Amino acid sequence: MERHPCPFCAEDVRVGALRCPHCRSRLDPIAGERWHRSHEGRRLAGVAAGIAATTGLPVAIVRAAFVVLTFVHLAGPVLYAALWVTMPDDPGEEPFADRAIDAVRDLFGPSHRSSRPFAGDPDAS
Ligand SMILES: [Zn+2]
Repeated sequence: MERHPCPFCAEDVRVGALRCPHCRSRLDPIAGERWHRSHEGRRLAGVAAGIAATTGLPVAIVRAAFVVLTFVHLAGPVLYAALWVTMPDDPGEEPFADRAIDAVRDLFGPSHRSSRPFAGDPDAS
């Protein structure tokens, strides 16, 4: 069975496990290297293509879901915009929202750049 180190406690865990059996940390299956917006076939910002690549759903289904959600209190565009700013454009890149937060922190006082491990960061393994 294939195993890899837990990003939180470095103990070996089974690939695909949802929770680390050693430290009980949730191992997010979405926080993978496919969670970004620069996929082939992107139309607008690449959010639907990124979700499709991460989840394995057909991109047409993801786009249709955004359209359907548009008729539910405009949830489609709101969700799309939220994912646009929180989903990194390229693998390992910090999303726009994180860069904006860091820029605001740099404006006010000493540097407080977050030291949390960034999902998809190749150095975090
Ligand atoms: Zn762990």
